[in-house]
This record gives sequence, structure tokens and C-alpha cells, in this order.
Amino acid sequence: MGLWAAVKATEAGYGVTLVDRARPGAGASGGLLGALFPWMPNRFDDKKKFQYDALLSLPVELSALEAETGLSAGYARVGRIIPLPKPHLRVIAERHQQDAISAWRSPAGAFDWRVTETPPVESYIDPAFAAAGYVHDTLAARMSPRGLCALLTAWLQHRPNARIFMGTELESIDAAAGRARFRATGASQPGQDGETFCGDILFDRLVLAMGVDAFAPIEALAPPLQKPLGQGVKGQAALMAADLDPGLPVAFLDGVYVVPHAGGRVAVGSTSENSYDAPFATDAQLDDVIEKARALIPALANAPVIERWAGLRPKAIARDPMLGPLPDHPNILAMTGGFKISFGVAHALADALIDMIEGRDPVRLPDGFRLAAHLAEAG
Ligand SMILES: Cc1cc2nc3c(=O)[nH]c(=O)nc-3n(C[C@H](O)[C@H](O)[C@H](O)COP(=O)(O)OP(=O)(O)OC[C@H]3O[C@@H](n4cnc5c(N)ncnc54)[C@H](O)[C@@H]3O)c2cc1C
Repeated sequence: MGLWAAVKATEAGYGVTLVDRARPGAGASGGLLGALFPWMPNRFDDKKKFQYDALLSLPVELSALEAETGLSAGYARVGRIIPLPKPHLRVIAERHQQDAISAWRSPAGAFDWRVTETPPVESYIDPAFAAAGYVHDTLAARMSPRGLCALLTAWLQHRPNARIFMGTELESIDAAAGRARFRATGASQPGQDGETFCGDILFDRLVLAMGVDAFAPIEALAPPLQKPLGQGVKGQAALMAADLDPGLPVAFLDGVYVVPHAGGRVAVGSTSENSYDAPFATDAQLDDVIEKARALIPALANAPVIERWAGLRPKAIARDPMLGPLPDHPNILAMTGGFKISFGVAHALADALIDMIEGRDPVRLPDGFRLAAHLAEAG
């Protein structure tokens, strides 16, 4: 979120300082999966339309940044296959197939939520999970989370009006004075092209895009609330080495994702944990996900696990992204709460953020994505 905000603000001509307590991509965005799934095509409201448009514009925006940097975000619109184990799931899926015919059509593209009897790709998903058929969603895509973070960081590093401080943590904010205080954490990595900073920075606008850690400072600056504005939902994922075609669709069943990436790597995930003791440690729950993935995709049966990873998804009280100026401090803006959809919408949220900063109402931004909606929910 912060990287996209910095990119868009830099493009708009502002002097931008991006500060991270470790380095860009050190939080949830530095994970493994990178699935870009649309919401279901039924009840296609303003939220689903915003996400649909964002999923369509993302590859166009990435191409421009990739051409400038020579780096790749590992994006491909590979689609998604959902096996249907039970007949009642097929009934629902066939309704969605009709919904997609109207919802997923626009001048920028036409996509399907197709229900099929035969596997959309031969010898990929174990047919034992597809007694009632398959869904083939052609809108879904995947991206490399770390590739994306490296791409956006590199783009910023070549901009005269942008600078990045790594290993630098936000310590306190004086909203009235437009001043933020930072301290060095010692968490940046040697050899990375980012200085550390310690001291005060004066700002015209401050964007709090700190993932799960943004909720506390936003609460501190907001009017008194009855409930917390958000929480971290832990997720665990793994990376496997397997010679799968990177053009294969993402496979998805019951919360288990299998995401073939380039270079013989396949990401599998994820747990979704509301309570946890060790937010960044993996455990037997990940073993369970890995076993389910191996069962679903026979080609993974003996694939070695080369990385295990855990992180915290920022889940806002109203479950949706949280964007906008603080009521009493319009020079400070929240940008967090992407929960499970951040990668597909962050660039579009950043456009809306710039609109807000420049005094325009981002008319396409759903009301539910605005900070005001979350503040109302938190009382
Ligand atoms: C297992 C798992 C799988 C997921 N899969 C997907 C997926 O397939 N598709 C998808 O769209 N989403 C997915 N998500 C969710 C997605 O990763 C998050 O929604 C997204 O990364 C959040 O981005 P963010 O920029 O808001 O926060 P983060 O990526 O967490 O970034 C916050 C940054 O702020 C920095 N920071 C924090 N506090 C401070 C401070 N005081 N001072 C300075 N810097 C600070 C951190 O170091 C960090 O770099 C997944 C999440 C998990 C855990």
C-alpha cells in the first residue's frame, strides 16, 4: 500500500519520503502467494466494480513500471480453477456463471466464470475433488509479492523527487505541527540502497500505510472509539520447488491456494488465524495446508518445501480497505485494511488517495472503503 502511494504521489510531482521500519516488503506484502482473485460475480456492487476495474488496470500499470526498471512483478492473468466436490456447489457455480456474463464484461475485457464437466487443464487437479465439475475463472491472475515490492522500490529509487529510508520507524506524530518523529531500528539490511534516518520530518501530508501496525496510530488520532479499528489475521504459506508450467491457473479449494509462479516455484497457502501467540512463526497448521495442496495437485506430491512463511493481514473492522483523511487531522491519511485483496487494489486505492490529497472526491471509491465507514462501525 505504502509503495503504491509513494509511486502515485511521485508521479503526481510531490516530494515523497517513504519510510519503513525494516524495508519495503518486510510486512505482509513480502509473502509468497500473490493470488489476484476477483470477488464472486454475483451482486456486482460498487465494491466489486472497483475491484474489477483495478484487476483490469493492474497489468497495464505494471507494464509501464517494468519497462522503466527492467524488473518483473511476475504478473500473469492465468485464471483460476475451483474443483466442485458436491452437486450443490455446482448449482451455486452455475448461477455465478450467469452473473459473470453481465458483471465481467467491459470495454477493457470480457471474462468468464465457466462451469465445466471436464477439467479445464488435463492432469493438473486430482479429479477426486471434482465429482460435480469445475469452475474456470478467467479473470483471476497471480503476481510475485516480492517481485512487485522490488519493482516499486526500484522505480522510486530512480526518481529525483522520491527518497526511501529503511530501518527507520515512526515514533510519534505531531499532527498540528505537521511533524513526524522517526528512530532508527537497525533492521535494514546491509547492501540495500536505502539510508536510515533518525529525527523529525515535516510533512504536508502523512500517509499511514503500515499494514496491521497502522490501526493503533489511526485510533490514537481519531475521535474516541468503542471498538478497535482493526486486527491482524495471521496467515501461513509455503514455497515449493516443482516443475509446473507457470502459465497454469491458480487452483483453489476450501481456502487452499496453489499458485504456480515462474522459475519452478509453487506457492501454497494459507491459514487464516484470528488468535495466535507467534505471529511470524509457522507450525503444524501449515503442514496441514501443504498436505491438502499435495493431495489436490498430484504433481506436488514429492515437491520439496523450500520456504515456510507467516505474516499478518491487516483486517479492518468493516473487513474492507480503509482509506482517507482523519476527521480532525486532514493532513494525515489512513491507507490499510486490504486484508486478502490488497495486491489487486492497492494501485487503484493510491489513485483515490491522490484525488483526496488534491481535493477531488474519488467518486468511484466505494463508501465502504472510506475511513469514515470504519470509524462509524467502531463507534
Ligand atoms: C499468508 C498470506 C497470504 C496472503 N495472500 C494474499 C494474496 O494471495 N493476495 C492478496 O491480495 N493478498 C494476500 N494477502 C494479504 C496481503 O499480503 C496484505 O493484505 C498486504 O500485504 C497488506 O499490505 P500493506 O501494505 O497494507 O501492509 P504490509 O505489507 O504489512 O506493509 C506494512 C509496512 O509498514 C512497515 N511498518 C510497520 N510499522 C511501522 C512503523 N512504525 N514505522 C515504519 N514502518 C512501519 C512494515 O515494516 C511493512 O513493511 C496474504 C497475506 C498473508 C499473511
